[in-house]
Amino acid sequence: MKPESPDIVLECLMEGNRRYVAGRMLHPHQTPERRRALRERQAPSAAILGCADSRVPPEVIFDQGLGDLFVVRVAGNIVDEATLGSLEYAVLHLGTPLVMVLGHRGCGAVKAAIEAVMAGEAGKGHLRSIIAAIRPAIAEAQMEPGDLLESAVRAHIRRSIQQLLDHGLMFAAMVREGRLKIVGACYDLESGQVELLENAAD
Ligand SMILES: [Zn+2]
Repeated sequence: MKPESPDIVLECLMEGNRRYVAGRMLHPHQTPERRRALRERQAPSAAILGCADSRVPPEVIFDQGLGDLFVVRVAGNIVDEATLGSLEYAVLHLGTPLVMVLGHRGCGAVKAAIEAVMAGEAGKGHLRSIIAAIRPAIAEAQMEPGDLLESAVRAHIRRSIQQLLDHGLMFAAMVREGRLKIVGACYDLESGQVELLENAAD
């Protein structure tokens, strides 16, 4: 699957999510033929920065197959040197026209960051680098009404998009020229629905 415009790619993903929610998956592009066709090269239509959470596998929730998605997963879907470099590879070398930051409700990494902030701690072990990356979103969410975890998940997605625009090699210029779209989305663990967030860069 290699549609030309970011908007068409996004619509394909949302259509796949609707199939998944309705339990009418097509499981596309998962045959031995597809595997062989991709042996020499890949041209994924979307790059997704998602959480490592076992309940949010992008290929499943968007009903996609081999070669369709360039997926970068790390707890709390944080932007760091490695994830940013991976996304730059997808956009600049593989020509992927869409980048999605995919957070999810009830994210354990965001929850851990909230707990650390509340306790005035940095977090244990190497989790502290993930907590440090999410921490600014907690401060932002604390100024908003409503459920703190829910607000923090969304604030973190928005901040991650801004980080991609600020630091991704050529990302901001490509977005301005309409060659790249960067969107934020939030997955609901119960309904299976992916909701696109507003204020996404396009
Ligand atoms: Zn998570």
